[in-house]
Amino acid sequence: MDWADELAARVSGPQVVNDSKTPSGTIHVGSLRGPVILDVITRALRANGHETTLLYGVDDLDPMDAQALLTPDAIDREMGRPLAHVPDPAGDCHESYARHFASVFIDVFDGLGIHPDRYYWMSDIYPTGAMDPFIRTALDKAALVRDIYRRVANVQHPDAWHPLAVVCPNCGKIGTTIVTQWNGEEVFFECRADLVTWARGCGTSGWISPFGGNAKLPWNLEWAAQWSLFGVTIEPGGKDLSTAGGSRDRSDAIAREVFEREPPLNVPYEFLNLGGKKMSSSKGVGAAAHTIAEVVPPEQLRFLFLRPRPNQAIEFDPEGTDAVPRLFDEFDKFAAATAGREVKGEIAPGYEATFRYSLLDPEADVAAEAALFRPAFSHLALLDQIPGVDVESRVAAEKGSALSARERQIVDERVAAARAWLETYAPERSRLAVRHDALPVEAEALDDAQRSYLAALADAVAIDPPSGGDAWQAVIYSAAEAAALSSGRAFAALYLSFLGRTNGPRAGWLLAGLDPAFVSARLREAAGTTTPVGGTP
Ligand SMILES: [Zn+2]
Ligand SMILES: [Zn+2]
Repeated sequence: MDWADELAARVSGPQVVNDSKTPSGTIHVGSLRGPVILDVITRALRANGHETTLLYGVDDLDPMDAQALLTPDAIDREMGRPLAHVPDPAGDCHESYARHFASVFIDVFDGLGIHPDRYYWMSDIYPTGAMDPFIRTALDKAALVRDIYRRVANVQHPDAWHPLAVVCPNCGKIGTTIVTQWNGEEVFFECRADLVTWARGCGTSGWISPFGGNAKLPWNLEWAAQWSLFGVTIEPGGKDLSTAGGSRDRSDAIAREVFEREPPLNVPYEFLNLGGKKMSSSKGVGAAAHTIAEVVPPEQLRFLFLRPRPNQAIEFDPEGTDAVPRLFDEFDKFAAATAGREVKGEIAPGYEATFRYSLLDPEADVAAEAALFRPAFSHLALLDQIPGVDVESRVAAEKGSALSARERQIVDERVAAARAWLETYAPERSRLAVRHDALPVEAEALDDAQRSYLAALADAVAIDPPSGGDAWQAVIYSAAEAAALSSGRAFAALYLSFLGRTNGPRAGWLLAGLDPAFVSARLREAAGTTTPVGGTP
């Protein structure tokens, strides 16, 4: 994690960190890696005394080219139009398709403590005329631009091709137009029926001013123009953009040769892979950024992206696995190590920086945060499923002292996360199901010692019925001690009898939450006796 601090130590002067996104639909959780990296770079720069501005742009004049979210009757009309001019498919909650999807995504990273100093929307920028000088330069140097595409990307544009896309004044599409002439004041455009396969132009052609929002630069030129317009010094880019001859190479060459400015420093970053299994939508769960953010709290989500270096891919497969509980456990391990406590297993160097940058508040007292008591996620997930358990007092008992306000906040956040996880990604085995109907078949694995223990426990609670989890816990232990059975095997006997598995939450609170008559009957049934042990010959 030292990479951000190393970067901050390497640059000088005021810094402008930028990223932008085309809001073409629901945004995948992996797309959060960019904003998280951007935020960490900004924090590291500021911590090193660099005056830093964080920008986030929305490339919403890009053409609509994904029809998945359009109704059949809208496809012909909307495909190829600027995303900013396509209506919100979710109704009228936003002024456009672009605003809708960008806003949903921005809300998610805002919740991760990522607060750019300025958001810019290209549909707002072009009409101001701020892009006009870049449009003029690009058109004047059209031959050079075509040459750069040939050299850098092996893309052969026709000799008449000019780097500009006009918004067709007749059909409103931008993905279907080509500019073939430039006279210094106006361009000649054609809206072609067959320019692209995914949208159909209307056939209009004519001369039009390229300025003031009538047209936009193609993506590679627009990107390079943004760098000049905003004075961008650092812009991390996903691996897909950073390949040889890819978008970043093209824009770098355009920045140098066309706009005559050194491109910003790149921090290429790898993808987040969602594992082998496809994210199902059966329970309304998916890989959308906003969906995962409803389950994984902000600090653990930041941690997911920050634990590996940017150039390492992230494997994350939450569907039906323990990936989410493991993420919490890892986070807690980094917290413990940062607090100077001994941790099990290896821990990556730079763990202190990883923990620090995972915190929501850049001004947080890192040592105090690291020292907080954090109950294990899996334990909370089980505890919360037992009826009648006061989770907070159980956690305080585990800690051995009262929880601070901040620790109570963490417990509340984790309980909410555990509930959301159980409703969405959790594997079936994490859902605590007391087998009320019949003795689980798994209880056949009980040995004689465990059976006599269960019988003895049934006797003990018949004589002196315990009330509450603590009392139950005490009698479970004392009966185990009397039977010379290890507590581990005693608990396993109870879990097998009630849950059909060998592990579970603290058994005292489980049993205290159930009907006493049912508990007694089940203990005896599992023990293989139906009457008190004392009453049999
Ligand atoms: Zn909306
Ligand atoms: Zn047209």
